[in-house]
Amino acid sequence: MAEYAITARVARRLGEVQRLLINGQWHAASDGRTENIFNPSSGEIITTAASATREDADRAVAAARASFDGHCWTGLTPAQRARVLWRAADLIDANAQEIAELEMLDAGKFYLGALNGEVPFAAECFRYYAGWCTKIEGDTKQLSTVPDQAFHIYTQREPIGVAVLIVPWNGPLVQAAWKIAPALAAGCSVVVKPASHTPLSVTRLGELLMEAGVPDGVVNIVSGGGSTIGRFLAEHRDVDKVSFTGSTEVGKQIIDAAKGNVKKVSLELGGKSPVIVFDDADIDLAIAGAAQAIFSSAGQVCVAGSRLYVQDSVYDKVVEGVAEIAANLKVGPATNSAMEMGPLISRQHLHEVHRMVETGRAEGARLATGGNLLTDFGGYFIEPTVLADTSHCMSVVKDEIFGPVLVAMPFGSKDDVVARANDSVYGLAASIWTRDISKAHRTAAAIRAGLVWINCHGIPDMAVPFGGYKQSGWGRENGYEALLQYTELKSVMVRL
Ligand code: NAD
Repeated sequence: MAEYAITARVARRLGEVQRLLINGQWHAASDGRTENIFNPSSGEIITTAASATREDADRAVAAARASFDGHCWTGLTPAQRARVLWRAADLIDANAQEIAELEMLDAGKFYLGALNGEVPFAAECFRYYAGWCTKIEGDTKQLSTVPDQAFHIYTQREPIGVAVLIVPWNGPLVQAAWKIAPALAAGCSVVVKPASHTPLSVTRLGELLMEAGVPDGVVNIVSGGGSTIGRFLAEHRDVDKVSFTGSTEVGKQIIDAAKGNVKKVSLELGGKSPVIVFDDADIDLAIAGAAQAIFSSAGQVCVAGSRLYVQDSVYDKVVEGVAEIAANLKVGPATNSAMEMGPLISRQHLHEVHRMVETGRAEGARLATGGNLLTDFGGYFIEPTVLADTSHCMSVVKDEIFGPVLVAMPFGSKDDVVARANDSVYGLAASIWTRDISKAHRTAAAIRAGLVWINCHGIPDMAVPFGGYKQSGWGRENGYEALLQYTELKSVMVRL
């Protein structure tokens, strides 16, 4: 048992109330209210965080507005902005151990996974968008219809203004970086709202951004309740854009909240992503890949491969193989490096996931493995679960569970599986497992999802647009496409 002992630095940080960043200063909530922050591995309270009031959120928006209108960030040259983002990346790397600890403590990430995965990935995100700062360009256009006139016409990209960035708990650091870095590269000022369960790494990121040289008021962080502060920010008339990652249900509320001033909205929402295994796949690779696709981060991943479709002749073998991996996974505290699957985020979520498993069984699914709550550690654990022989009339097949629960079904032909893979309100991601390159591309073309992996699943990259079709969202994160979503496009027509 290699139990991770937190460093004195992190212990000191946990001993203080986590504060709000407004206009370059760290504050308690205006009414002094705090929220307990739990370690999902132990169920213990590890610290408290200021819980922003509407007044705090309003001041954060005002600070962002003033910094944007005062050009303290957009007034820098793109190269100067790039250097600040690059410094932020270096500071993330320099503080990797501390940030990884924080991500372990409130989000339940494994320390080494965070140290070698989330933290360097967040740093690379800032480097990637540092590179874009100097490459935000317009175009020239030709007149198409006006006769006998000479014009010089060009377009330019301008920052959209004040952006509210609402982040979920399942990847607090990376999801925040995916929004903050392109928004800053585009020249926006931002108000970040972390999920109330997981403010620690985002708060630390705010400190590092200030240290890197982001001017006061350009990045503000207000932790607080979703239905109170999140909603207030999404409705706010001085906000030009809201970028939201979270559930589809709340995404719809964001659309409603944004309509008052018709602010721009981008949404990264839920998923129920199919994993399609053809009988000509490398079966061992597919089994390991399907297990990884659902059990990594205990299934609390928006692109989790939660629906497994396997061609008839290899169905039993693949389902048994995935169930065997599930049954052998070591489930326990994220603070213990011998473990392979960590906790769910909260007691409430744990019971919701368990309830869904019970519903699936009641609806007629066959429990191939798992299904039980694990109470040994005090935290929020459930066994990795495989429900076999499911069908599309079951709620476990239709609804996002956001836990380590896989539903499996056999299929006959490519057309059959494409129809069923597309039979979902979601369209975030999919993976296809086959050795037939032509079948792989044809199937990829037929799947209605924003991200399709072939012979792998769940690999993100900063350069690759990430987002969903249908009720999985609006717009894309990552790549140049994400940057554009923090800009407005202006056309200028000069009559010569
Ligand atoms: P959630 O929708 O409950 O909360 C997300 C964020 O929105 C939190 O910061 C929360 O405080 C805030 N919020 C809640 N209600 C709000 C409201 N009425 N107005 C404004 N803000 C509000 O989601 P969650 O449980 O934190 O995260 C899990 C969900 O996120 C899953 O559905 C998952 O698929 C999705 N997700 C999607 C992606 C993606 O890129 N598509 C990535 C990660 C998570």
